[in-house]
Amino acid sequence: MVTTSRCLLTLALLSASVCAAQERLYDRKQWLDSTTVVSDDPRHVPVAPGQRGPEGWLVLKGGRVFDGTGAAAVDANVVIEGNRISAVLPASSTQWPSQAQVIDVSGRTVMPGLIDLHTHLSYSEPDTPSEEADDDAAAALRGAERLRYFLESGVTTVRDVGGQGAVPFVLKRWVAQNRIPGPRIFAAGQLITGTGGHGAEGLRPSCHGASNGRTREASGPDDWREAVREQFKRGADLIKLASHYSRDEVRAAIDEAHSLGLKVTVDAETQYIQWAVEAGVDSVEHPLPRTPETIRLMASRKVDSVPTLVPYIYIFDLDGGYFDSTSRRFSFSKAANLALFRQMKQAGIRMGVGTDLVTDWFRYLPQSYITELQQFVAGGYTVPQALVAATRTSAQILGMDDKLGTLQPGKLADVIVLDGRPDERLEDLKKLRLAIRDGHVVLQDGRIVSTPHVPRPEPVPSREQSK
Ligand SMILES: [Zn+2]
Repeated sequence: MVTTSRCLLTLALLSASVCAAQERLYDRKQWLDSTTVVSDDPRHVPVAPGQRGPEGWLVLKGGRVFDGTGAAAVDANVVIEGNRISAVLPASSTQWPSQAQVIDVSGRTVMPGLIDLHTHLSYSEPDTPSEEADDDAAAALRGAERLRYFLESGVTTVRDVGGQGAVPFVLKRWVAQNRIPGPRIFAAGQLITGTGGHGAEGLRPSCHGASNGRTREASGPDDWREAVREQFKRGADLIKLASHYSRDEVRAAIDEAHSLGLKVTVDAETQYIQWAVEAGVDSVEHPLPRTPETIRLMASRKVDSVPTLVPYIYIFDLDGGYFDSTSRRFSFSKAANLALFRQMKQAGIRMGVGTDLVTDWFRYLPQSYITELQQFVAGGYTVPQALVAATRTSAQILGMDDKLGTLQPGKLADVIVLDGRPDERLEDLKKLRLAIRDGHVVLQDGRIVSTPHVPRPEPVPSREQSK
């Protein structure tokens, strides 16, 4: 009721559209008090309190800290307790427990782990044998390989926006339990699209693959709701929709997702973006064509953008354009994409970083990620602003900025350490030395490390059996 009356007040002052976008009448988080411990994902599922992350303290001493807030790098010591940052101390302070493990990072840059908001961990490559393309076991192993590439590139969080069946959710659990190395994963599950829509185009595999375990074709508003519920059932952290769809379908899907407490992002173009924005979508992927009116509406409704410029550079450089797609019927170019990026920036639209490295393009990492950031700079960002987009802003778009994206006390300890000064020279992102995810050192001296398993004692025979 309180929200409704505030909403009505806002209505009087602004417009119905702004109110609807900014205040969710059914935001499930309002039912949690500040003392409840919740899962480390946007679903905010209540969990029992207890030890999280490794035991004890870890100190990164003597680095220049670029904390992701937008402030200039300063010399400081970062103190981690368990899986959280407990303090960022002035360089002169050594106020940590004497038993803490201290790593000297003098002369190096310490910053929040990078975030990639647009991945497809389980997609196949051009040379994947056909019998493996849709196979869940092969998809899981492809995902494990890609997770390693991302981690070795300083990416400690990925958002998977379209994956094979349950595979992204299994990968997410195994990484969270430190059973395989990788960045933390937020997964959308399958891409939901209309019959014959993007990702489900006839028999010709598109860049997202033909209709299969990675794509859920839906028809009619009820089926779009059902498709959302299927991803929710598997554990989705967000929902990903793709054009095409009717107004009723996209409205039903977004309403269902929001009611379940999930954000919605959309891969769309032209009128489909307009319809999704009108229906309350939270973000729009890609630099695909849209009208100035749609850009204005995105800005006024605070709809975020994940522009993913780098995959389209590869499409143009490798193939010369977007050909033979029955769903992608429009003209565009590298120059038009960058011009759209500038228009969105000018309109004040918040933008995060995603690479959409389909086919075998993940093998270009870490350069792909750097190229995406260089496009942000070409589009008007400073280098530090591009790094903030890659960390704090991307955490905001995830709905995880209370836990990720900056080096501040209370945040989850996802931290990278690099030689050089990436906040002055993006190419220095290649000089990764150390990565910490959830308080665990997962990469050291540029190599992924895994903690040896602690052997479990064999069972002791019961008294009955030992007689
Ligand atoms: Zn994609």
